[in-house]
Amino acid sequence: THFGFRDVPAADKQKLVGEVFTSVARNYDLMNDLMSFGIHRLWKRHFVAVSGVRRGDRVLDLAGGTGDIAALLKPVVGDEGEVVVGDINAAMLGVGRDRLTDRGIVSGLRWAQMNAEMLPFPDNSFDAVTIAFGLRNVTDKDKALADMHRVLKPGGRVLVLEFSKVRHPLLSKLYNVHSFQILPRLGRLFANDADSYRYLAESICKHPDQETLKGMMLAAGFGHVEVRNLTQGIVAIHRGYKL
Ligand code: SAM
Repeated sequence: THFGFRDVPAADKQKLVGEVFTSVARNYDLMNDLMSFGIHRLWKRHFVAVSGVRRGDRVLDLAGGTGDIAALLKPVVGDEGEVVVGDINAAMLGVGRDRLTDRGIVSGLRWAQMNAEMLPFPDNSFDAVTIAFGLRNVTDKDKALADMHRVLKPGGRVLVLEFSKVRHPLLSKLYNVHSFQILPRLGRLFANDADSYRYLAESICKHPDQETLKGMMLAAGFGHVEVRNLTQGIVAIHRGYKL
């Protein structure tokens, strides 16, 4: 067949084997793409586009281990600004840093291991704090939101991108079938890992819906809190200000 290695010259065989391993290393991206049909890339672009982050800003991107958001933020803040990527997992930080370095995105970025519940920064340090697909995984979300508020400068903004509650009842039904029936199977097939995909579906279900998260942000001290649904509320962007 086309995929058999037997009749392939040695140099090509090496290339084919290399590609197989590269695809294994890309599992994390694959997971995001399977989950969202690739739409997560658009959600992230939109998130940064509506963030209001400006040239020269100092931004903290929490749970930013993959570097996806940092890569989009860096050109916005420019050479005068800075993006600090914080994640609780050293391996994720390593992967993100390598990836951005390979793409030539190096200066003006800092990578640091930290827990979103206990940020290692003084009060009033950042113009913006972003957290994309991360808050769901944080144990004490109220504590994390309060600490994000603390490290923001007055007038600074927090932006949360996260799975939320699907509005349309029929879409909601389809979405549940996709999350609980199809995804774990795809996870087993492509990544030999059905459990992680099942965890993912469960964590999305348990995450506070649009109104609940808005209430939590108000309770943490944020003002002018606004919610924007993307793709019928499959994900939502919450924005709030430190007044
Ligand atoms: N923001 C990236 C993106 O959108 O591609 C990564 C999202 S990934 C689904 C969730 C990340 O949250 C992981 O890298 C994980 O290590 C991190 N995380 C989980 N709990 C955390 C915590 N308490 N503080 C900081 N990061 C945390």
